Formats: sequence, structure tokens, C-alpha cells
Amino acid sequence: MKDEITWGIIRLCIAINQKAIQIYTKLSQAEEISELKAFWVQMADEEKIHADFWSRVALIAEDFIFPCIFDKPSDIQKELSAILDKIEDLSNRWDEKKSMKNAFILAYRLEYYMLYPIFEVLFNDLKSVKGNGDTVLSDTYDRHIRIFIDMFIRYGNTTPELELLGETLQSLWKRNKALVDMAMTDGLTGLFNRRGFLIVAQGLFSLAERRKENLAVFMIDIDHFKKINDKYGHPRGDTVLKDLAKSLKGTVRKSDVMCRYGGEEFVILFPNIHTSAVPVMAEKIRKEVEESRPDGIFTTISIGVTQGLVKNSSDNDFLSWVSKADKCLYKAKANGRNCVVLDC
Ligand code: GH3
Ligand code: MG
Ligand code: MG
Repeated sequence: MKDEITWGIIRLCIAINQKAIQIYTKLSQAEEISELKAFWVQMADEEKIHADFWSRVALIAEDFIFPCIFDKPSDIQKELSAILDKIEDLSNRWDEKKSMKNAFILAYRLEYYMLYPIFEVLFNDLKSVKGNGDTVLSDTYDRHIRIFIDMFIRYGNTTPELELLGETLQSLWKRNKALVDMAMTDGLTGLFNRRGFLIVAQGLFSLAERRKENLAVFMIDIDHFKKINDKYGHPRGDTVLKDLAKSLKGTVRKSDVMCRYGGEEFVILFPNIHTSAVPVMAEKIRKEVEESRPDGIFTTISIGVTQGLVKNSSDNDFLSWVSKADKCLYKAKANGRNCVVLDC
């Protein structure tokens, strides 16, 4: 089933993107200052790269992969629709009066919609869905907006309104990135927090179902962490968490998604992992932590594992996998810790 509202949002983004290609091309053709002409050409070229990005998003949306990323999808749809009308309007205004100011205001409108925090989330999501080189696309967007802001501020100071707009755009952009970071990642380890992880993991979960790929979830908990805190102090406990996160990250593939699920608990989702590789991977992770001595402190972990094929990809089902892994973790603790329990 296709999610009509998500699909509608994506269609609007595609339409804005197409419009952007046309408009930047038009601006570049009319511009006389050579630096600005080259700049509009670059903007148009980058929009063409984004068009490829949006066609991938559209493909993924066909499979209903990110059901929960838009909090109020109908509001976003309305706003995007209004932006598209506004762009049309500003484009006509520029046709009537081809001034630098009108060109920048038009471009501002084209870029402004990308400042919805939701797009940062979407980029994060897609990065993990593809997991191979597709990071380039979100990085391209990032660079595109930064280049635009720089140019806007340089030429914008010709009028006070433009200067103000440039500064607003710049501060919004920074705040937007910081907000998404705060909402999705754990400040201590830099890993996804639970919220960020669930958004990405649920998407991967649906994908695994559609592709009939084997999937594994590891629930990892540090053994006797309270004692580590008691013995070495809370700040060194924090360093253990940080070092351990780094060591886990170094062990798994780039396409595996990991988070700090709670205090001293981590969850890793392994998309498309062969059944026989699951116990090997779990044992490897357990052993590496045992040998790594984060911050010089002997540390062990227990791991609960669940794995298999996804039969039914409703959102809650992923959480039931996490809860199964948690039950196995509980058994690993009961079995004496520093061990792995698989599919209990
Ligand atoms: P078990 O082997 O059964 O898991 O024992 P445990 O001591 O690891 O588990 P317990 O749940 O009793 O204690 C977890 C401890 O983790 C308690 C809490 O203070 C500590 N903790 C949680 N978050 C942080 C953090 O951000 N930094 C530090 N240093 N400690 C934390
Ligand atoms: Mg613990
Ligand atoms: Mg715990």
C-alpha cells in the first residue's frame, strides 16, 4: 500500500526541484556578472543531482519505507504547496523585473523549504537505507545550501532586507542542524539515540520484509556497570561508554545501525545478515570488548540476540524484536554475564 500523504509530499519536493533547475538555468542565462553567472550554473547543476536523489526517494516511498518520519504530514504538504505557488509568483516577478535582488529572493524561496528539520531526518534515514556512498547526496545538499548562504551574504549586503534574510537563513540552517542532531543522536557517544534509531530501524525493517532478507537485532548491556561507576567514578564510567561505542562501531559494517538505547545499553540492527554469521558476529563483539579495556578498565558485556526473516512489517513488530532480544539478554545475565544468548 502506498502512503498517499508521504507520496504527495515527495511529489511536491520533486516539483520544487524541477522548478529549481529551470529557474537557476534561467538566472544563469540572464546574469551578466561572471562570478554570479557561474554561481547560478553551479546551483542548477547541483539541483540536477538532487533530482536523482528525489527519484530514489520516490522509489523507496513506493515500498512504504518511512511511515513515521513526518509528524504532521498534511501540514507539511500544505506548506510545500504554498511554497511552490510562491516560487511561481516570484519567478514571474523576476521575469518582469530582472534585478539581482529579485533573483536572490527567488533563490531564497527555492532553498528555504529544505530548512524543515524533517529533511535532515530524511537524509539520515536514506543514508542508512543505502549505506554505500549515498551519504554523498545528503552531503551535497548540505554543501549546496552553505554555498548559497555564503553567496547570498556576499551579494545580499547591497540592500538591508537581503542582508537580514541572509543572516536569518544562516542562523536557521545552523539551528536546524543542531535540532536534528539533538533529537536523533546521543550527546555522549555520538550514536543514534533511541528515537533516531527507531526511525531508521523501522525503515530498514520494512525493507528487509520486502526483500525477504535475514535480519538480526543485538541487545547489548555492560556487565556490572554500576560497580565500574562506584569504583572509578562517573566521569570514567562515561569514558567507558564512549570508548565502547567507538569499539562497537569499528566492529560492525557501515550499513549496520547502532544506538545507545538507554544508560549502558546498546542496540544494533544488522540488515541482510546471513544466519550463520549472526553467532560469529555476536561472539566477535563480546570478545573485542573483553579485550579492549576501555579507558584501561576491564569491561564485559552480555548480548541478547534475535534473528530471522521479517514476516510482517508493522511498526510495532520491530519493537517486538527488540523486546525478544531483551529477553535473551536477561538470560545471558542469568547465565553469568560476559556471554551471548541467541534466539532464546
Ligand atoms: P548488570 O550486569 O545486571 O547489567 O548490572 P549493572 O550494574 O550494569 O546494571 P544496573 O542497571 O544495576 O546499573 C546500570 C548503571 O549504569 C547505573 C547507572 O548509574 C549507570 N549509568 C547509566 N547511564 C550512565 C551514564 O550516562 N554514565 C555513567 N557513568 N553511568 C551511567
Ligand atoms: Mg548493565
Ligand atoms: Mg542495563
